[in-house]
Amino acid sequence: MKSSIHEECGVFAIYTKNFSYDATKSCFFALHALQHRGQESCGIAVNNKGIIKNYKNTGLVSEVFNNEKIEKLGIGNMAIGQVRYSTTGASCVENAQPLFIKHVKGPLALAYNGNITNAAELRKKFENLGAIFQSSSDTEVIAYAITYNRIKTNSIEEAVKKTVKILKGSFSIVLMSAQKLIAVKDTIGFRPLCMGKTKEGNIMFSSESCAFSIVGGEFVREIKPGEIITIQNGKIKLDESLCKNESRLCIFEYVYFARPDSIIENSSVYKARLESGKLLAKEHPAKADVVVGVPYSGVIAAKGYSMESGLEYCDGFVKNRYIGRSFIEPTQSMRESVVKIKLSAIEPNVKNKRVVMVDDSIVRGTTCKRIVKILRNAKAKEVHVRISCPCFKNPCYFGTDIDSKENLIACKMNLEEMREYIGADSLGFLSLKNLKKAINEKQKFCVGCYNGKYPQSIPNITNKNKFDEEIY
Ligand code: SF4
Repeated sequence: MKSSIHEECGVFAIYTKNFSYDATKSCFFALHALQHRGQESCGIAVNNKGIIKNYKNTGLVSEVFNNEKIEKLGIGNMAIGQVRYSTTGASCVENAQPLFIKHVKGPLALAYNGNITNAAELRKKFENLGAIFQSSSDTEVIAYAITYNRIKTNSIEEAVKKTVKILKGSFSIVLMSAQKLIAVKDTIGFRPLCMGKTKEGNIMFSSESCAFSIVGGEFVREIKPGEIITIQNGKIKLDESLCKNESRLCIFEYVYFARPDSIIENSSVYKARLESGKLLAKEHPAKADVVVGVPYSGVIAAKGYSMESGLEYCDGFVKNRYIGRSFIEPTQSMRESVVKIKLSAIEPNVKNKRVVMVDDSIVRGTTCKRIVKILRNAKAKEVHVRISCPCFKNPCYFGTDIDSKENLIACKMNLEEMREYIGADSLGFLSLKNLKKAINEKQKFCVGCYNGKYPQSIPNITNKNKFDEEIY
C-alpha cells in the first residue's frame, strides 16, 4: 500500500424487504470490505420500524464491533454504515459516522464520503441562525442543512434536493429517516457510489461494488451525478432532475483508493492498474532483470509492466500487515528501524539485480526514497523507479489529503532532481493520456491534482497543509 496519501471514507446502506436479511450484520460485513477506505473510525446505524439505534467509535471495524455491540444494535429493516479517514475534522469519536440526530420531523442518520468545500461558510450561516455544532466535521453541516430545509419542504427527499443545491465539493451520501433510505451523489460525481441488490430484492448502496458480494448481493449500477434515490416500503423512487450527463470521477480511485475487485463506472479497477503497468512499460522502458511492486497498490501495475516488458516479475517486499493505525510515532533516531519493521526487501529476489520498482504515486518523495534505500540495502544493483500515474502538481480539495504545493516534490524539483533525491538510477511517470487510456478513454475524470484543471471552482485556501506521512 502507498503511504503518503490516505484513503478517504467508505459508506454502505441496505434496505431489506420484510426483514428477510439481517441489515445490521450485512452492514457490519460490508464495512469490512470497505475498510481500506478508512481506518480511523467506523459506525453503524440500524432502523427497526422507525426506531434508529447508532453505534460508532474510533478504530477498525473488527475493533469497534463485537457480538455484543451488534446484538445491542439489534435487527433492522434498514442500516447504514461508514468507515472513515478524516480529510476534514479531527480524528475523534464525535466526528465518527453515521451521524444520528433527532429533529422536529423525526430521526435522521447520515453517513458520507467526500469533502464539502463551502462547509465553513454554511456553518457560519447556520450558527447565525442559532445552530450549535457538536463536532468539527462537515457531516454535521450537511445534516443541519437537511433538517433546516426539511422544515420548509414536504418530504425528506425534497430537503435533500434543496441541500444538494447549496453544497459545494464532493459528496456521496447515504441517509435514513424513520421510513426512508436515501442515496445521493454530488452533481460532479467525484466519489463513487453504486447500487446493488440481492436475489430476495433487498437494495444496497456502497462506495464500492466489492462490498456487495460479501453480503450475497450483486452490482446493479453506479449512481448518476446529482441523482437522488429514495426507498420506501420496498419501492424505489428516482429523482434525476439535478443529474448531469457525465461524471468527473476522481481518477485516483483507479490508481490507489479503490479495491482491485471493484468495478467503478463500468471499469474494472484491477484491469485499469494492470493496463497502467503495461502502458508504463511502453512509455518508460528500462534495461533491467526483474520488476517488483511496492505493496499493495503498486503490485498489479508491476505485473502489467512485467507482462509488457517481458521482464520477470518477482516479489520484492514483505509488508508487515500487523502494524495498525496505533503504531507508535517514532523519534527521528528510530525512523530507519521503523521503516524496516513496516517493509522489508526479499533479498534473494533483488540481490545483484537491476530492479524496476513500480509504485502508484510520489507525493513528498520521502517514502519513495526510503523504499529505494531498502532495495539498495538488499544489494540491488540498480533501482529504476516507475510510477503508475503522473506527478502530483496540485492539491486536492475534493476528499483526499493530497497536499499543498509546497509539500509536493514535483512542484519543487524537475524530473532529474527528483530522481537524484529519491536515489534511483532512473525515474518515469505514466502520462495522463496513458492513465486515461488504461481506464477508459471515453470516460471523463477529475484530474485536478495532475493538471490543475478542477471540474468545480476551488475554495480560497492559501495553505492547505494537512499531511501525515506514514513511515515505511
Ligand atoms: S484532485 Fe485528484 S485526488 Fe482530488 S478528486 Fe480530483 S483526481 Fe481525485
